[in-house]
Amino acid sequence: MAKIHTLGFPRIGKHRELKRALEAYWNQKIDKPAFTQQIEALEAQRFESFSHLDLVQVGDFSLYDHVLDTSFLFSNVPQRALQSRDSLDNYFRVARGKASINDCCAASASQMTKWFDTNYHYIVPEFNQDTVFSLNSDALLGKVRHARSQGFEVKPVIIGPLTYLYLGEVSDNTPVLDLLDKLLNEYKLLLNQLAKLGVSWVQIDEPALVTELSPQWQFAYKYAYEVLKHAQVKLLLTTYFGDLGDNYKLVCELPVAGIHVDLTRAQIDASALADRLLPEQVLSLGVIDGRNVWVSDLSELIEKLQALAQKKGDLLWLAPSCSLLHTPVDINTETNLPAQVKPWLAFAQQKLEELHTLKVALGPNPGAASAALLANKKAIEYKKRSALRSRPEVQASINAIEPSWYVRDKSFTQRYAQQADLINLPQFPTTTIGSFPQTPEIRKLRQQYKARAITLNEYEKGLEQHIAQCIAQQEEIGLDVLVHGEAERNDMVEYFASYLNGMLTTDFAWVQSYGSRCVKPPIIYGDISRKTSMTVKWIRFAQGLTAKPVKGMLTGPVTILNWSFVRDDQPRALTAKQIALAVREEVLELEANGTQIIQIDEAALREGLPLKRAQWTEYLSWAIDAFKLSAGGVKNETQIHTHMCYSQFNDILPDIQRMDADVITIETARSQMKLLDAFNDFKYANSIGPGVYDIHSPNIPSVKDIESLMKRAMDQLPSERLWVNPDCGLKTRAWPEVKSALENLVEAALALRQNQ
Ligand code: GLN
Ligand code: ZN
Repeated sequence: MAKIHTLGFPRIGKHRELKRALEAYWNQKIDKPAFTQQIEALEAQRFESFSHLDLVQVGDFSLYDHVLDTSFLFSNVPQRALQSRDSLDNYFRVARGKASINDCCAASASQMTKWFDTNYHYIVPEFNQDTVFSLNSDALLGKVRHARSQGFEVKPVIIGPLTYLYLGEVSDNTPVLDLLDKLLNEYKLLLNQLAKLGVSWVQIDEPALVTELSPQWQFAYKYAYEVLKHAQVKLLLTTYFGDLGDNYKLVCELPVAGIHVDLTRAQIDASALADRLLPEQVLSLGVIDGRNVWVSDLSELIEKLQALAQKKGDLLWLAPSCSLLHTPVDINTETNLPAQVKPWLAFAQQKLEELHTLKVALGPNPGAASAALLANKKAIEYKKRSALRSRPEVQASINAIEPSWYVRDKSFTQRYAQQADLINLPQFPTTTIGSFPQTPEIRKLRQQYKARAITLNEYEKGLEQHIAQCIAQQEEIGLDVLVHGEAERNDMVEYFASYLNGMLTTDFAWVQSYGSRCVKPPIIYGDISRKTSMTVKWIRFAQGLTAKPVKGMLTGPVTILNWSFVRDDQPRALTAKQIALAVREEVLELEANGTQIIQIDEAALREGLPLKRAQWTEYLSWAIDAFKLSAGGVKNETQIHTHMCYSQFNDILPDIQRMDADVITIETARSQMKLLDAFNDFKYANSIGPGVYDIHSPNIPSVKDIESLMKRAMDQLPSERLWVNPDCGLKTRAWPEVKSALENLVEAALALRQNQ
């Protein structure tokens, strides 16, 4: 009979217990014993969800990040963080950094970056030629013992050696694979320790296998698993987030006891794969989507899996496609979802229940699953037939799109001249990326409104006050292009989702983004259109307070798409087009209301790039089109800005050019403007606002710093096409620092103008 397991489960807890415990501990509201107790309670809560699993994973839980845990497991910890005898202290030091106290003991955090194509961030391992690894498995072994003592068959989860190396950053020129032998020694020790504890299966995660690997890396895989095959445990090698592409043969031939593939994202023929494997190898199929929130069609799966289940017996394992880390915990915590849509949704807890139903239905007593199957069938049928998903008027608007809608009337040079006449800006115009500090007062106001302690009218009046203060501050600072400050937005995607038909926002469907930070991705369930205007009221209000231009501020279609759970019954490209039309309507309404500058943020455009380069062109083609569709309808005189985070644009510059935004603001402060070299080499033709203020750091850039950064920018680009602005939005900073930093920024711009 097939076995069921999961690659991982959310760590945050049903009610974000992890966040609460972490933040209380960091802020010294609770001591270490109390913290440990809360974490133990959370782990116990998680285990309650695993009662039906045949193998229970251990090691997927983490206090901050599982990649950081792996670095600690092998003692690969930056020296600067090893300051305390308390390893928990050092652990958080790597994760979050530590400011100096009386000039002592400062440690910068390690870099953080996105975990493959998800919105989860991991702490990047640091390597150099002197890196040594030394196994420090006490914590993991302790957890394994604990779970075994509760009677579970335990499957420890570790990141595989090659994926671990793949994820890291080398600070010198050492080829990272040179570290493999040293690392493998520690893996061997670990696996043997686990075997001694009585563990029979270890899940070894190698998602790097869904990327395009060079022959050298492919060889390294063969080599590493030859070395590890002598361990006394069975290895389940897991791959997820995509198909195996050119690594298919390699994976089939690795000497491991079992492999896991992601059937929701890969076009893999499971029975052909079973035939490729040795008869005694376990085949684990990721059949439940771990990246989305929809109920699975269990009847369809049963039909697909029946023959294979017969053939492989308990060597067929069923699982979610990847760790459930990327889904919210439990749909039952939601109380305000529309009753029609709620039955379509399955969060982590429900996905494990689906697995259980599948197992029973494929087993010797399928009758025991019939009630659950019937309920599932109903939900699937209901979703398929539901009129909620389809809006004929949206489909009609999509059909009415003309090719001319994507392109501006005149070329950038002509437009820019017309805009300059009208908007009348100085050289090196100064501006910001949109948000100003989300102060405790703003958050309190929102909470009061949510809790119905104040009326809508009171809430809006409160917001107006914040906007007015924000405008006054910017005038005082002397910025040229002002913003309203985004006080009304809890989140740049969720806010827009609440104004769009076809999208749902939730109350508690949190997903971990990093450490204690969680996001609530909206859910796209149907055709999208704009319910009402989304921002016009606030921009008009702000513009009414000042003679300087106020920039309208919108989130772009690709970012809304990439930071939401998407519908599974139509291509993402089509959904992006629908969102683009809704944003376009808003853009045109802003313009009609006198807004001369409109920014359409595409923070997540770059990170949406597929894991395989071969698929980039297709993605970029529709993603850039979606942006163009949202922006292309305005008059020449209206200036379109866009903003993108995460600097790496070198490889997609033709696409950035194709967006044809009049001004693009980007993150360049941390890279000391290096990024602009590529813009110069490419002969990028439009205007750029290279960030001169690293908003991630509490440091205030001096006038000199900013001037010298701008001078570097002027080496690369003509000054008529340069703007002066911070790297990103200021919502996470505090007013005093923002003020000082922006005053310096304005002063630097004035100095630059004088030198011209
Ligand atoms: N306009 C948004 C802000 O200023 C942009 C944020 C982002 O790019 N992540 O917060
Ligand atoms: Zn940004």
